[in-house]
Amino acid sequence: MPAGGFLHANDAPGAYPPSYYAATATPHAPCPSLAGSVQADVCVVGGGYTGLSAALHLAERGFDVVLLEAHRLGWGASGRNGGQLNTGFRRDQPALEALLGQATAQQLWQLAEAAKALVKQLIGRHQIACDLKPGIIDAAHRPRHVEGYRRYVEHLQQAYGYEQIRFLDRPALQAQLGSPTYHGGCRDDGAVHLHPLNYALGLARAAAAAGVRLFEQSEVRRWQVPRACRIETAAGVVEARYLVLAGNGYLDGLAPSVARRIMPINNFIIATEPFDQATARQLIRDDVAVTDSRFVVNYFRLSADRRLLFGGGETYRSRFPADIASFVRPRMLQVLPQLAGCRIDYGWGGTLAITMSRLPYLARLAGPVFAAAGYSGQGVAIATLAGQVIAEAVAGTAERFDVMAGLPVPEFPGGTRLRWPLQVLAMTYYALRDRL
Ligand SMILES: Cc1cc2nc3c(=O)[nH]c(=O)nc-3n(C[C@H](O)[C@H](O)[C@H](O)COP(=O)(O)OP(=O)(O)OC[C@H]3O[C@@H](n4cnc5c(N)ncnc54)[C@H](O)[C@@H]3O)c2cc1C
Repeated sequence: MPAGGFLHANDAPGAYPPSYYAATATPHAPCPSLAGSVQADVCVVGGGYTGLSAALHLAERGFDVVLLEAHRLGWGASGRNGGQLNTGFRRDQPALEALLGQATAQQLWQLAEAAKALVKQLIGRHQIACDLKPGIIDAAHRPRHVEGYRRYVEHLQQAYGYEQIRFLDRPALQAQLGSPTYHGGCRDDGAVHLHPLNYALGLARAAAAAGVRLFEQSEVRRWQVPRACRIETAAGVVEARYLVLAGNGYLDGLAPSVARRIMPINNFIIATEPFDQATARQLIRDDVAVTDSRFVVNYFRLSADRRLLFGGGETYRSRFPADIASFVRPRMLQVLPQLAGCRIDYGWGGTLAITMSRLPYLARLAGPVFAAAGYSGQGVAIATLAGQVIAEAVAGTAERFDVMAGLPVPEFPGGTRLRWPLQVLAMTYYALRDRL
C-alpha cells in the first residue's frame, strides 16, 4: 500500500487530534495561511521538531526563513509523542559498534549526547514551559533480557564514561514501579521526559521571535528547482535559495527518494483520569518515564496533573483504529492491572517514520534541497539535532551533517509495490514474538 494519505487520513484538517497534549497546550494564536508570492533565503516544509529547529537555527544565523506547515505547528508526531528524550540513537551503542565500527559509534554517541544537551539548552534559553522531568527506566519484560541490561549499563559506563545510568535488578525495579510484570532493567537519569507539543510550540515561539515567518494550513503540493527553489501551496508560492523538507512520516510524494527509505507507522497513546499523589507514586515512585523491551514498545509516564499517559500498539495502514482507547487499554492492563477500573479521558494516534536500519535519514537531494526523516521512534532529541545540523550545512559547515548523512539507510526492499506487505509481515512477526 502506498504511504499516501497519512497527512489527511485521521484528523480534521487544520485541527490538533483530541489528545491530552492539545487539551493542555500553551495557548497560541493561529498563524496565517500562505497566500500570494513570497521570497526567502530558505523555505522549510513541516512544522515539527525537524522543521522548527532548522528554521530557528537558520534564522539565528541570519537567514530569512519561511516555514510552511500543512495543518498546525506541532500537529504531527512532534505534538503527539511519548515525550521521552532518550540517550543515544534507536540502535544501541553495541549495535552501532558492530555495524559501523568503534570510531563512528563514538562519533554518534557524541552527537546523541549533543542532541540531548541541545533540547535541554533550548528549553532553558527560550524558557519553554513543557513539564521537563528527569529519568527514564527501561524495563525487561522477560527474565532472559535482564543480564543484557546489566552488560549494557557496564558498557556505557566503561566505553563511554556515561555515569548517569544504573542497572536495576528485580527488587530495585519493583521498588520503583507498581507493575508486577518487569524483571529488571536500567534507569537513566541523564534522559528526561516532557510535554512534547508544548516543547514544539516553544520552538515555534522562539523561531518567530528570531524572525521566521510561520504559516499554518499551508500544505505544499509541489516543488521544483530550476534555478531557485519554487515551492507551491494551493494559494501561494515561495521562492527561496534553499529548501528543507521536514515532513517526516507525512512526506509521501514530495520526495520519492526519501519515501523509499522510510516507512510511516502509527503508534497510540491513552491518558487516564488524574490520580491523587499517593496513587501516582505507587505507579511510578520517582515520576520518571518508563519504556520496555518489547519489539512493539510499551511506554508510560505521569503527566503534570498525574494522569497515566500510556503508549503502546502499532498499525501500519494510514487509518487509525476507530476506538483508540479500546486498542491501547488491554496493553496498559497487562502492565498495570490495578488500573482496570480507571477512566480513560483521552486516546490519540500519531504517525512516525522508521527506516530499515532504524537510523535517521539525512540527505542533500538536489544541490539546494535538504531532507531529514526516519528517526524510528527517537526523534525528540535527534530531530531537534537534525534541524540544527541542516542549518549548519546550509550555512556551509557540513561536518556534522556529513556524519549523519553518511549513516547506512537502505531503501526498503520490494520496490514501491511489495515494500508494504513485506515490511508489515516482518513487523507483525516480531510483534508476535513479544508475546512468546
Ligand atoms: C505516538 C508516538 C510516540 C512517540 N514517542 C516518542 C518518544 O517518546 N521519544 C522520541 O524521541 N520520539 C518519539 N516519537 C517519534 C517523534 O515524535 C518523531 O521522531 C519526531 O516528532 C519527528 O519530528 P519531525 O519534525 O521530523 O516530524 P513531525 O513532527 O511528524 O512533523 C512533520 C510535519 O510536517 C508537516 N507536513 C508534512 N507534509 C507536508 C506538506 N506537504 N506541506 C506542509 N507541511 C507538511 C506535517 O503536518 C507535520 O506537522 C513518537 C512518535 C509517535 C507518533
